[in-house]
Amino acid sequence: TVGAITLDKNNSMAAATSTSGLFMKKDGRVGDSPLSGSGFYVDSKVGGAAATGLGEDIMKGCLSYEIVRRMQEGELPQDACNHAVYPFIKDLKKRYGKAGEFSLVAMNNKGEWGVATNVEFTFCVATDKQKSVILMANPIDNMKTK
Ligand code: ASP
Repeated sequence: TVGAITLDKNNSMAAATSTSGLFMKKDGRVGDSPLSGSGFYVDSKVGGAAATGLGEDIMKGCLSYEIVRRMQEGELPQDACNHAVYPFIKDLKKRYGKAGEFSLVAMNNKGEWGVATNVEFTFCVATDKQKSVILMANPIDNMKTK
């Protein structure tokens, strides 16, 4: 999945996802990517989030909504990502014995951003002042910021 969150000069925000779904998926499977709240969520007054990875697990936590909800309560995007994702991964492992691989990106309506992942993934940040920077995230770096 490719997920994007944007903020324009009028402070309007958008979130989008594009996906092929999972490899060898069953006919008719609907993953998280088209589901508002799970694969993406945005509120221009707060911020947005988008997910990639095992949709069945992302959906169990409505993770994009949960991150935006936390930002609405005043958390910075990185804190919201950490607090929404890492306890949830622990919970998945406790309840189901495993957690799929997934990653989330988030940005608030000030352009501050955060990420959380339990694999290694690359993401990209672009602003009007700075063209585009490709960054790498891994679970260890993210967990350190907790
Ligand atoms: N999130 C997608 C899905 O579960 C798959 C992916 O990100 O590769 O359908």
